[in-house]
Amino acid sequence: MPEIVVKGGHGGRIEAKRGQLVEVATIEDTQVCDFFAFNRDNVREAVSPSHTRHMKNSIILKKGDILFSNLRRHMFLIIDDTVGVNDMLSPQCDPERYRLQFNVKGHHRSCRENLAEAMKGYDIPYEYLPEPINLFQPPLVQADGTFGPAVPSPSKAGDTVTLRALMGVIVAVSACPQDISALNKHRPSDLRITVRDA
Ligand SMILES: [Zn+2]
Repeated sequence: MPEIVVKGGHGGRIEAKRGQLVEVATIEDTQVCDFFAFNRDNVREAVSPSHTRHMKNSIILKKGDILFSNLRRHMFLIIDDTVGVNDMLSPQCDPERYRLQFNVKGHHRSCRENLAEAMKGYDIPYEYLPEPINLFQPPLVQADGTFGPAVPSPSKAGDTVTLRALMGVIVAVSACPQDISALNKHRPSDLRITVRDA
């Protein structure tokens, strides 16, 4: 059974065939997963939060939902979700966010660079890396359309999101290195990604 453990603050990559299940699991409490996936036969096609929002006419992602690609094709079906709190509105953290919004001097690890590292060799320009589905991350949009302050992920150790791959995919994840806001309890922790037959 293919499995990777992604170190807290780092990224990783795993492949799944059409029909296989991809399980994303927390190992400790309070950790989000920036989830990305690409068509294994054409990495220019990727899971798209904006197309998923538009096709389901909602900003809420839950069990039973389809994740759509940037070509509006079915990429995943959410089979199970033990938390039921996911975000499709925020881009991944990046060096600019830490510098501009958190006043970090020097380098800070980021989900965008983790994705770039995980997909190294696939020739995807950094500027065109896709946006994530943020598993276990509360959407912060409020009634007036503004975003509220960051809150901790509600995930507990051993929580899972299980997705059925609806095409052959390359999954890339980042165990988000955000340690300044409360999102990952100020101490990012590991994620386990498992691929198995349905
Ligand atoms: Zn991040």
